[in-house]
Amino acid sequence: MHDSRVSETPPSRILCQGDFGGCGACCGVYNDKDRKNNAAWERALREQTQRVAAANFDPEALKQIKAAFVHRHQQQRLYEDIRVCPFAGFVEENKIGCLIHPSRHPQQKDLRDLSVHSQKICAGHFCAAHDWLRPEEVAMINTCEGSFYGLLVSQVGLVKQLRACMESLLHRPLTVKDCELHTEGFQHLWRRIQDWPYASPNPQRFGAFVFIGAQGNSQSLPSCAALFEETPPTMWTQLLDELESHFDHPEQAVEGLEYVQSLLRELICDWGPQTVTPSSDR
Ligand code: SF4
Ligand code: SF4
Repeated sequence: MHDSRVSETPPSRILCQGDFGGCGACCGVYNDKDRKNNAAWERALREQTQRVAAANFDPEALKQIKAAFVHRHQQQRLYEDIRVCPFAGFVEENKIGCLIHPSRHPQQKDLRDLSVHSQKICAGHFCAAHDWLRPEEVAMINTCEGSFYGLLVSQVGLVKQLRACMESLLHRPLTVKDCELHTEGFQHLWRRIQDWPYASPNPQRFGAFVFIGAQGNSQSLPSCAALFEETPPTMWTQLLDELESHFDHPEQAVEGLEYVQSLLRELICDWGPQTVTPSSDR
């Protein structure tokens, strides 16, 4: 029987490694109670990277690393039933990826059967973002540096709301060319969004939902729209929800809205018209 986690046809563009950042979301790197404490989370991932690198692809050493990791990480997991692979780490200074990927092995050996998934799943799984993101949205997130790239890949709703809000300010569709021409501007935006001052500290909050229970089942949250006396267009309140905003009072919600609008205005302020049209809606 076909395993639904394995794609029957690989996507034309694989998102796992971007130009400036890499993802390990489906390898479980965000299944961690410290996921919103970036310094601690990243330190632990760098330490694990060093352990795996020291094993130098020796299968016995990797098995020991896995056993020690599974034991050590037990208390650290947000969701008991979601596996966390001990072999995800920093494949480059600022890029997360698979440390035992065959392309990294001196003889291209594939050791991924040693992981928490099978080699078949590791090689053949391509997450829903591959289907859901439009080319211009892919180009947008491709500008992102570091570990935040993986969070953008896995938060399709946030990417889509950002694009919609940007287009409403631009009065035209966003294009791939815009993203390629304004990489630095986008990188500035991603840093501000990564440090979103109104973000809920709850590590179980991902976008507009909380994920609860051992399996991480989604539960929707009330929108921040109710906090506004004069409700802004839905795309803006949905963007604030996707940003994991938690506002203590209405004035703070207005402040958050003005802040994100100023970030987007700052990004697009000197963009000219673009003639390249984006792909049709999906
Ligand atoms: S979550 Fe998607 S983009 Fe990220 S590593 Fe997995 S398949 Fe690749
Ligand atoms: S072995 Fe598989 S699950 Fe582990 S990091 Fe590599 S691709 Fe991800």
